[in-house]
Amino acid sequence: MNKLLTAFALLISINVSLAQTRADSLLLINYRPVSIYKTPMANIKKAAFPVIDMHSHDYAGTPEDVDDWVKRMDKFNIEKTMVLCMPGAKGFDSALAKYGRYPKRFALWCCFDYTGYGTPGWQKHAVEELEKCYKKGAKGVGELGDKGDGEIYSAPVKGYGLHIDDVQMKPLLAKCAELHMPVSIHVAEDEWMYEIPDSTNDGLMNAFIWHVDTMKAGRLGHDALIQSLANAARDNPNTIFIACHYANSCSNLQVLGDMLDKYPNLYADIAARYAEIAPVPRYAAAFIIKHQDKLLYGTDNSPEDRMYLNTFRILESADEHFYEPEMLHYHWALYGLNLPAAVLEKLYRKNAEKILNSYK
Ligand SMILES: [Zn+2]
Repeated sequence: MNKLLTAFALLISINVSLAQTRADSLLLINYRPVSIYKTPMANIKKAAFPVIDMHSHDYAGTPEDVDDWVKRMDKFNIEKTMVLCMPGAKGFDSALAKYGRYPKRFALWCCFDYTGYGTPGWQKHAVEELEKCYKKGAKGVGELGDKGDGEIYSAPVKGYGLHIDDVQMKPLLAKCAELHMPVSIHVAEDEWMYEIPDSTNDGLMNAFIWHVDTMKAGRLGHDALIQSLANAARDNPNTIFIACHYANSCSNLQVLGDMLDKYPNLYADIAARYAEIAPVPRYAAAFIIKHQDKLLYGTDNSPEDRMYLNTFRILESADEHFYEPEMLHYHWALYGLNLPAAVLEKLYRKNAEKILNSYK
């Protein structure tokens, strides 16, 4: 994927001067509109409330990077960050060595260990590994990931063909409930990744990179994956599930809304889907307000200044018609949701506290 992106970057640099002067040959990938509107802009410098970031990853390469990250968290009012999924006991140990100096600022989550998957009784080993991670301080499980072929984010062994509602998962999910570890899971991708990446595709700038080919034998499509999560929430009522990225249902949030209404043990994070909801601010704000007790702030992307600032701007401000193509990759104009303070506080921290505190 990186080589592909480098090639695109090269293409951009080659084409940029041409594109600036020749509108008739302008490629969408070179389109960098600058808002013409001289409307007031909020210029938010930090989050309105101390934040618990429920969805990040092991971005710090060194202990010094961790120190820098903490300084940045201080600057933007991020109180604590969940560092999701450290594959294998070894990965967890090295992460602990890096982040363990800041127990109040970071919490580490672990993966399931699918070693032996496919042989009878593989779950016994997986449960034992989970208990080991828990004893070392893991606070949750995930990010699990299923884009149609089964669990793909785990390492070194992936759970191909194993969806979250598979009966084989029940002993693992029951152990999560027993240990009070919430399960964070990414299912599917947003709808436009499934549509043909042609001139009619609304999210083309990301859809052509992340396109999902549903013709592959045995691969579940978007709706079937969402259903697998609903089934898991239904069948494991004592386990807390966190659907990553609005359950990848940004173009029809009602799908997620119906599940949140139905399953008290299901929550959703809003990580890395800011550009996806900012083009429809009234619809998105109404959804967030309605489900204000079930949604969790998250980032997922590299912890850079601009990344944090974009999330605050989209949630808190009433800014209109701005673009972030470099950071968020879409050609869409974005709008702030202007969420009420009480809703922001739940989104930023209170809902996370509820989950984490009930899971000591
Ligand atoms: Zn993630």
